[in-house]
Amino acid sequence: MPFKKANHTHGRLSVKALSQSANTLACASGSWRIWSLSDGYVDLPAECLKYPSNKVCRQTEPPQRDASLVRLSVNCFLFDRSGMDRVLIDCGAGRSWDPTMGHLVEAMAEAGIDTSSVTMIALTHAHGDHINGLLMPDGRRAFSGLRKIVIGEDAVEEFLAEPVLEEFRSLLAPVNGGDRLADHLRAVDIPGHARGHMGYLLNTDEDDVLFCGDLIHVPAVQFSRPELTWAYDDDEAVARASRIKLLQDAANAHTWLAGAHLGRPGIGSVIEEGQGYAFIPVA
Ligand SMILES: [Zn+2]
Repeated sequence: MPFKKANHTHGRLSVKALSQSANTLACASGSWRIWSLSDGYVDLPAECLKYPSNKVCRQTEPPQRDASLVRLSVNCFLFDRSGMDRVLIDCGAGRSWDPTMGHLVEAMAEAGIDTSSVTMIALTHAHGDHINGLLMPDGRRAFSGLRKIVIGEDAVEEFLAEPVLEEFRSLLAPVNGGDRLADHLRAVDIPGHARGHMGYLLNTDEDDVLFCGDLIHVPAVQFSRPELTWAYDDDEAVARASRIKLLQDAANAHTWLAGAHLGRPGIGSVIEEGQGYAFIPVA
């Protein structure tokens, strides 16, 4: 159990919202600040959501405009404490995909955060909506103070397959599940969605917060029915097992989840409900 509590923090649920704007949410936990920052959203075919039998699930929320689409939020997260690295979890799609995404830098401006203050980026995996925000549309680096890019060892090859990202090779710091990145921060293997898919567990002394990447794509359905899978998962059976285990662990240990495609603001706690789970966004 990768993030079982064994200390006094068990049961604490103290992440508190401080301020909110259209594309940002600032929270506090102990002496830490955590921001949820919107990169935008993407509409994808509802047919991507499937039963274990591989039948398409028709239970999705009423979508916007087009009945065959589901809307996924694209969230990035930032955290810091004075004297520590300011860490960004994933950096959005940049201008690589749909213009509905690639707005992280604007969200940071909205939150009053200087992009050059980011010293470390931890990538959950090497899909385009998580890595291409390293570059601005004009090709400049988006984060001029960046010293290190943490990435799952098995995701490095896919990252470097993107030729424009070659310039970041010397910053890459490959990790495996269980590796400690700092006193308060640890990598957690979350296999199934993509090669080297990695979560990052922050312990604030008050709370455990797991930045869980693409564990869930359609929160309106997959909390209550975690067995439903997503067509873009590399290995749907492994992704399903990861999701079911992780949701149970998070509910048991009161671990906060912060997910790339959870509905805005994408950070909250998990409780058991009916046959599945429910997500309670931070208040
Ligand atoms: Zn994603």
